[in-house]
Amino acid sequence: MTDINTESTASEGNCAVDSEAQSPKGPSISGTEVGSVFVSNYPPFSFWRDDNLPEFKERLQSSPEPDSPLGLYMHIPFCRKRCKFCYFRVYVDKNAGQIQHYLDNLAREVELYSEFPAVAERPLKFVYFGGGTPSYVAVKHLKELVQRVQKAIPWDSVEEVTFECEPGTLTEPKVKHYREMGVTRLSLGVENWNETILRENGRAHEVKEIHRCLPWIREAGFEQLNMDLIAGMVGETWDTWKDTVQKTIDMDPDSVTIYQMELPFNTVYSRGMLEEGQESPVADWKTKREWNQYAIEEMCAAGYEISSAYTLVKSSGRKDGQGRFVYRDALWHGSDMLGTGIASFGHMKGVHIQNVTSWHDYLASLDEGRLPLGRAFPTSDRERLTRELILQMKLGRLSFGYFREKFGVDPFENWKDVWQDLQDREMVDSVSSEGVELSSKGLLQVDTLLPSFYDHTYQNARYT
Ligand code: SF4
Repeated sequence: MTDINTESTASEGNCAVDSEAQSPKGPSISGTEVGSVFVSNYPPFSFWRDDNLPEFKERLQSSPEPDSPLGLYMHIPFCRKRCKFCYFRVYVDKNAGQIQHYLDNLAREVELYSEFPAVAERPLKFVYFGGGTPSYVAVKHLKELVQRVQKAIPWDSVEEVTFECEPGTLTEPKVKHYREMGVTRLSLGVENWNETILRENGRAHEVKEIHRCLPWIREAGFEQLNMDLIAGMVGETWDTWKDTVQKTIDMDPDSVTIYQMELPFNTVYSRGMLEEGQESPVADWKTKREWNQYAIEEMCAAGYEISSAYTLVKSSGRKDGQGRFVYRDALWHGSDMLGTGIASFGHMKGVHIQNVTSWHDYLASLDEGRLPLGRAFPTSDRERLTRELILQMKLGRLSFGYFREKFGVDPFENWKDVWQDLQDREMVDSVSSEGVELSSKGLLQVDTLLPSFYDHTYQNARYT
């Protein structure tokens, strides 16, 4: 994905992750070994099953919950080149005809969804184009896709349209078109400002391509320009990282998203370690956290504020809308979302869903007029409570009143031992019946803290 979005994803919940990509357990505390600690959803994906699909289909046939927001995620799984750390379901070898076939079927998928009672006539709150590289697609094809999608589900009420971009794929007409089609949040996968590091990590873009596209983006006037960085790319040193942080500040984006480099299964680097016995080429976790902390401090000194464990937003001179991230906040508060495209994740009326993960199965289902559903998980009230709590922990603070009102459960009492443990380890600054504030130490490693909140069945279970 161009933007390791994840706050999702997969992002904040919706990265179309290769299902074999993550380890059953996280990497060790110290070295960056093969495995992933990133938590994007709950319960763990390994518990989702295809025999739960009838329940998802049933929910589609029922009326929506009043006031429950609806979003749309569209996965564009094409990239110019595969990054050596990438574990997402992406393709670098599809020709124009295959891409057109995929986009036709993506539009068809949205059209099929729009006919179900749970979706029909329902206002859409946000749209997210994720990848892969959405900006890889030609304007002509994108126009056709968006026209069909908007006809099926109007965008009149949409508050945010996010579009992930890889700098080297952008042209001035493309950028202008994104603005005309309603993109409000353009997310640019910068990752690092050092040419040697970009090349070593297999990134397709060069530094000069970032400089080339920025004036077009400024000229188009998006509500929010986000830049993605990764702390700990292979070859990173304190000097290169300091330079990357400074150059990012100099470019003055509205928000900056920083991820700490992981090595899930199925990346080029992970295979080198597992199959050829190579040492981890990535800095250890302590160093990556120090780099992340440095970036946070420098950016806060430059007028940014912490918006989540991964994102900083510019606070000085901010206009309306520039600091918000509707997609993330809706997902972390239990919104419904149509997850469309190969391997995508969605949620509808309490049931998690993931699409099929093979190119052939995805296209074949839609060619036959069927939704390409892969596996589902109907959540209990308790599981939805836990899911929201762990995802909102990534904001760095929780208000327990929200959970008491929505789920009738008091998180303070319910997880008393976990709070105590986090306090003993200095992961939280304060905890009371009102809520919790994470410490900066806790926020920097928040994903490692979340499994403690899992129900017994999911403790120590395989995540994907
Ligand atoms: S190959 Fe690179 S740009 Fe494409 S999805 Fe993977 S990490 Fe993102």
